[in-house]
Amino acid sequence: MVPQWIIEQKRDGRALTDEEISFFIRGYSGGAIPDYQMAALAMAVTLKGMDADETVSLTRSMLASGITLDTSALRIPKIDKHSTGGIGDKVSLVLAPLVACCGVAVPMIAGRGLGLTGGTIDKLESIPGYCTNLDAAAFLHVLNTCGCAIIRAMDMLVPADKKLYALRDVTGTVPSVPLIVSSILSKKMAAGIDGLVLDVKWGRGAFMPTRADAEALARVLVVSGRRLGLRIAALITDMNQPLGRAVGNSLEVAESVDVLRGNGPADVLALTLELGVRMLLMGHVAAGREQALELLRAKLQSGEAFERLKAMVRLQGGEARVLDDPARLPAAAIREPLPARCAGFIQTVDAAAIGRAALLLGAGRMRVTDEVDPAAGIAALKKTGEAVTIGEPMAILHTNRPDRLAEALALAAGAFRITAAPILPPPLITLEIPEVLT
Ligand code: URA
Repeated sequence: MVPQWIIEQKRDGRALTDEEISFFIRGYSGGAIPDYQMAALAMAVTLKGMDADETVSLTRSMLASGITLDTSALRIPKIDKHSTGGIGDKVSLVLAPLVACCGVAVPMIAGRGLGLTGGTIDKLESIPGYCTNLDAAAFLHVLNTCGCAIIRAMDMLVPADKKLYALRDVTGTVPSVPLIVSSILSKKMAAGIDGLVLDVKWGRGAFMPTRADAEALARVLVVSGRRLGLRIAALITDMNQPLGRAVGNSLEVAESVDVLRGNGPADVLALTLELGVRMLLMGHVAAGREQALELLRAKLQSGEAFERLKAMVRLQGGEARVLDDPARLPAAAIREPLPARCAGFIQTVDAAAIGRAALLLGAGRMRVTDEVDPAAGIAALKKTGEAVTIGEPMAILHTNRPDRLAEALALAAGAFRITAAPILPPPLITLEIPEVLT
C-alpha cells in the first residue's frame, strides 16, 4: 500500500477500507509515515468526512496502537464518563468517587485543559502531591483498592492519538467528527471499560457551538461506541454559562468538596446525579432511576463519597487533608470583586468570556507546554436568573498576576448581562441519547 494513494482516495471523497486505515495509523504511529502525510490525510478527512464503518475502523486502529488495560480482576462493572469539556466543569471529581461507592468502578483517563476549557488533570494536580501519571500497574492498584482512579493518558495508551492530536492542533484539523470520535473512544476503551456515559456540551463555552452540532457529535459517538461493543449513552448539556460558581483549578477542587459535603451549587449536583444515574443503570447496580438517585444521594449524605475521594487522592500520592480544609489548597495573593453596575437579574453569563478572563488570570494554557497557576480563577460567580443589587459582587477574581487584572476584570464584566425583568435559568440537560437507540 502507498500512503499517497490512500490520501488521494480520501481527497476524492471515497471511503477507505479497514486495511488502508490500519496501514496508515500503524505506519504513522511507528514512524514509517511522516507528519506531512498524516496531516494531509487528517485534512482530507476533515473536508470529506468518514462513514460509520470508517470511523469504527479508525477507532480500532488507534486503539491497536497501544495497550488496553486489563481490568478483569475487578469483578464489578467498569463505567466511565466523558465530557467534551466546558468552563467550570468539575463533575468528574465528584462523580468518580460517588459512583465508585455505589459499586461501579470508574477507571478514568482524563486530560489537561487547553484553550478555554479546563481539564480534570490540572484540577487534581492542584492537590499537593497528587500524581496523575501512574503506570498501568499503579493505576490498576488504585482502581482495585478504591473503585476509582483518575490519571492522564500514559504513553502506552493510544500513542497514535498522542501524536495525531498534537498534529491536528497545529493543522486546523481538530473539528472533524470522525477524528474526534476515534480520539475520544480509543482512549476511553484503552482503560478497559464496559460502558461510557457522555456529556456532550454545546454553547458559548463548549467545543460545539450549537445544540445541533453537539447532537450530531453525540449520535456518532453513541453509534460508533455501540458498534465497538461498548454500552454507551449521552446527555447533551448546556454550556452557555459556566457550570457551578467557580472556574480555576484549586477553586474547582474546593467547590467539588462542597458538593461532596452537601453544600455545592445546584447545577453541579444536578448534572452529577443525572450522569451518575445513567452510570448505575448501565452497571446494573440499580433497577431504575429512582433507586439509582436514592443510592447516589445516600452516599453523598453519609459522607462516603467524600471519604472515597480522599482515599483515591491518598492512593495517588496526594495530601488528602487539604480536602478536609480546602483553605490549605493553593491560594492567590489578589482577590478582586467584580461589582454589578446596575440592579436586576442576571440574564446571561458568557462562559467563553469567563473562560478567557480565567485564562488571563493564570488558570489556563494557550499552548500544551504552558504552566497553569493552580490558585488562579474566578469564584462566587452569579448564575443566570439570580438577582443582583448595584455594587454587589457578581464574581471574585483570584490571581497572582496584578499586571493582568484590569484586562481580566473588563472581560469578566462583559460576560454578564443584567435585565430588569426576572428570568428563569435555562434547562441544563437539553437532550438524552439513551443507551439503546430506537
Ligand atoms: N477530545 C479528545 O480527546 N480528542 C479530540 O479529538 C477532541 C476532544
